[in-house]
Parts: sequence; C-alpha cells; structure tokens
Amino acid sequence: MSSAKYYRTEGLTLKNMPLGESDLLVTLYCKDIGKMRAVAKGARKSTSKLVGHFEPLTINNISITKSTNLDIINQAETIEDFDSLKSNLIGMAQGIYINELLDGFAPESHSNNDLYTLTHNVLKKLTSYSQSRLPLMYFELHLLRLSGLMPELYHCVECREELSPECHRFSSDYGGTLCLQCKPPDSVIRNISLSALKVLRMLHKANVNRLPELKMSQSTAEELDSLLRNTIQFWLDKEIRSKTFLEYLRRSTTDIIYS
Ligand SMILES: [Zn+2]
Repeated sequence: MSSAKYYRTEGLTLKNMPLGESDLLVTLYCKDIGKMRAVAKGARKSTSKLVGHFEPLTINNISITKSTNLDIINQAETIEDFDSLKSNLIGMAQGIYINELLDGFAPESHSNNDLYTLTHNVLKKLTSYSQSRLPLMYFELHLLRLSGLMPELYHCVECREELSPECHRFSSDYGGTLCLQCKPPDSVIRNISLSALKVLRMLHKANVNRLPELKMSQSTAEELDSLLRNTIQFWLDKEIRSKTFLEYLRRSTTDIIYS
C-alpha cells in the first residue's frame, strides 16, 4: 500500500455488517493488501452508488481513502459476482465456507497474491463444478500450504523415513503422515487409507484449472472431508460453522456426485 491518501485495490467481500444508520463495515480479502476492513459510507441507502456491491462473494475494483481509524470506500465497480455459484444452495454454502476459512487464516494487512489467486480460481471452478468435492478439497489443502501449514504427505514427520504403501497413519496436530513405528507422545493419530493419501498427493501437485477426472468412492470422500476438517479445526482452534452447514446440505441432497 502506498503512502498516498487514496488507493485502489481489487477485493473479494468476505462479510459485511451494518454500521451506524446507513453504513456497512466490510471485511475484504484484497489482491495486494490481504485481509482488511473498511467502511462503505451510506451503502445501505437505496440511493447510494455503493448499494449491492458488498454482498459476500463479490469481487470489486474499489477506491479507498485512508483514515486514522477504518479506511473509507469511495467507489466500487463489481467485476465478478459469482451469480451462478450463488444460485444453488450447495454452491453458495461452499463459497461462504471459503470466505470463513480466509477470514480465519489470513492475517490483517498481509498481502498474499498466491492465496488471492487460489481463491479466485477455486471460486471460478466451483461455478461450473459445484457438485464435486475436489475443488473445495484443493482449496483446503493449498490454503494450508500458503499459510505455511502444509501437512507432510510423503515421509514420516517423526523419523523422516519415506513412507511405504499401506504403512502410514496421519496426525493433524503432529503435522501429517507417520510411519507405523512412530507414536509421538500426546499426538492424536488416525488411520489414512492409501486411496485417501493418493488423492491428497494428487491435489498437492495438481493445477486447479486442470484437476483430473477422478472418481472417488463415498468412503474416501468422507475420510478426506473428516481429515481436512480436523486439520483445519486444529489450526484455527474452533469449529467452522459453515462447514457443518455444508455437510448437512450434502447429507440432505440425494444426487451428490463423488467425482
Ligand atoms: Zn516414523
């Protein structure tokens, strides 16, 4: 951010809340700033030029004035609103989950262009691929990687030996895969199937725009959902409410495609 009084940036709205009589307090994840909060003055007035621009899951080009307290948003031009994602309940729930994770993991005013690009690409992928679990798992794993919290997937985190097929377990709190011999004290260890480990390794190396066609069994999908959920909850130290809602929706939907 420059030292000028005004600046422009591109930002995804994570959430908003009413402030005063007609303002909105907006939390954004910005391309070159990272997470920030700013005030959209008068944005709740029907006549305001800012009205409707700061719904969650909307990307705007915005002009901002620096202030001693919270910066003030002057102008906004919507460049992406992910309408097709928001038009179905599971798509919307996935987008809100991504927003909640960004809000939880991203420190304020710490730019991370790779994380911004990851988020943008996964949201675009979900607009055409919202029934698949792969894009969201990709986001979860690479959010951990870009936050410096990537779980180990190839070696034992304790003895550093390369893992042998079918001879591995996993510990979210100890940093990833373990061989069968190592049992670090006070760590919570769970089994991880070879098929689940292979999917994680594939997601680690894949490009989000070229995710391979992959038919996952329901049990592998549920195993990975649980493993990633535990890992994310361990680092955030809280339950992710939007994930609980998303899982409820998935259980209620009969035409889930595990691809
Ligand atoms: Zn070991």
